[in-house]
Amino acid sequence: MLLKISWQTPYAPDVTFLFHKHPDKVQSFDLPFGRAIVFYPALSHDHGEIALLVEIDPIGLTRRSGPQTAPLYPYVNDRPYVASSFLSVAVARVFGSALNGKSRDKPELIEQTFDFTIAVAPVVSNQGATLINSLFEPLGYEVRSEPHLVDEQFPAWGNSNYFSLTLRGRQTLSGMLGHLYVLIPALDEEKHYWVGEEEVEKLLRHGEHWLSTHPSRDLIVSRYLHRIRTLTQQALEQLIESPEPDTAAPEAKQDAGDVRLNQTRLEIVLSILKESGATRVLDLGCGEGRFLRLLLQTAGLQEIVGMDVSHRALELAAEKLQLASHSDAVRKRIQLIHGSLLYRDRRLEGFDAAVLIEVIEHLDPPRLAAMERVVFEFARPKMVVITTPNSEFNVRYPRLGPDRFRHQDHRFEWSRSQFQAWADSVAQRFGYRVTFRPIGPEDPGIGAPSQLAVFTQ
Ligand code: SAH
Repeated sequence: MLLKISWQTPYAPDVTFLFHKHPDKVQSFDLPFGRAIVFYPALSHDHGEIALLVEIDPIGLTRRSGPQTAPLYPYVNDRPYVASSFLSVAVARVFGSALNGKSRDKPELIEQTFDFTIAVAPVVSNQGATLINSLFEPLGYEVRSEPHLVDEQFPAWGNSNYFSLTLRGRQTLSGMLGHLYVLIPALDEEKHYWVGEEEVEKLLRHGEHWLSTHPSRDLIVSRYLHRIRTLTQQALEQLIESPEPDTAAPEAKQDAGDVRLNQTRLEIVLSILKESGATRVLDLGCGEGRFLRLLLQTAGLQEIVGMDVSHRALELAAEKLQLASHSDAVRKRIQLIHGSLLYRDRRLEGFDAAVLIEVIEHLDPPRLAAMERVVFEFARPKMVVITTPNSEFNVRYPRLGPDRFRHQDHRFEWSRSQFQAWADSVAQRFGYRVTFRPIGPEDPGIGAPSQLAVFTQ
């Protein structure tokens, strides 16, 4: 099996330091099940390619097979050829420091993202391209999988479960290797070695930054752990990051004026949606569904989708909206989905409008860029409405000092000019026009308590 990684960047040779492999050498590594060979098929100032060829010793493998296989299985199987957990073991052995995000010589490149093209051949998928896409696309990859014929001499037999896989995406090297480390074995499901608790630990380590919010998380965990129920449960328990939903924005807890502010915010956003004539609307980071309730009451909206990363918030939303007791007609109009704004998600495509009400300030600033692409590049609704607190107004909240935010889960709060600079740059980069509006009564000098941007294509 062959893994080939190429990258396109003005200082391509620097990336070879991250791999810790000398560009002029062909190197071979012994593995418990065969050997790995590493070399660079191409390297120029702006383009690099590294190949990892894994050769499996089929005779050695017959001795490793478990006892419960069919008699001929140890001798006739795809194990020597198909990308599997053997490839992950080879990646960890050969590219260990890259996988773990360590570099002695170029530490400044660890966090840097590169435009990678990754070719893996062959991979196996018992659910065709659908499964492959559902694993990689949410992580921001463009996925191409070409099926192999069962037998080239008999094309009428059709396609097999084997594919040549090509992924394209902008990722850090360690992030990308972590995705492969987990997802290649999850695609392949073959049992051929003992799966124990240390596999749970490896899965959690390499999935640390992305697995908990991956839309196919449960499937990945279960397949990676060969559907061993106890291990799967153990992993999921540790993974399920369930950020406590905002039971109420803190303003709402304060006094009647702040309850009004919440209401005003929702009404302004609703009036903007109505004016635009949108009929299919996304509420991203919908929380417990305060805005969804208003949307449901609005005639003319045909499709309403609320998405949140928090399971608990979605449960509360379903309860509060009493979805279970509504008619089929109502239930057809609204859907609650579990997902993250940080990962590309096909379910978000093709909408007239998306709203993010008091959501962006809950994202870590380094992750904003991911959200920007997910919303403005991939989901690409005709209109996007974003609201966020105006930090200049915080002087009016006596309990807030200079370094206290309005809510403990806020990662930042922006002034009007910070918000506008960010929104202008997003609009410019993704081909939208943006206008701004205050939310709540304006105070001279410090503006209104909250602020809003409307992006239109
Ligand atoms: N829009 C709602 C909730 C705002 S609170 C309202 O106005 O009432 C912020 C919400 O964003 C929370 O429900 C939180 O779970 C959600 N959130 C945080 N990070 C997210 C992410 N990466 N993807 C999707 N939702 C996220």
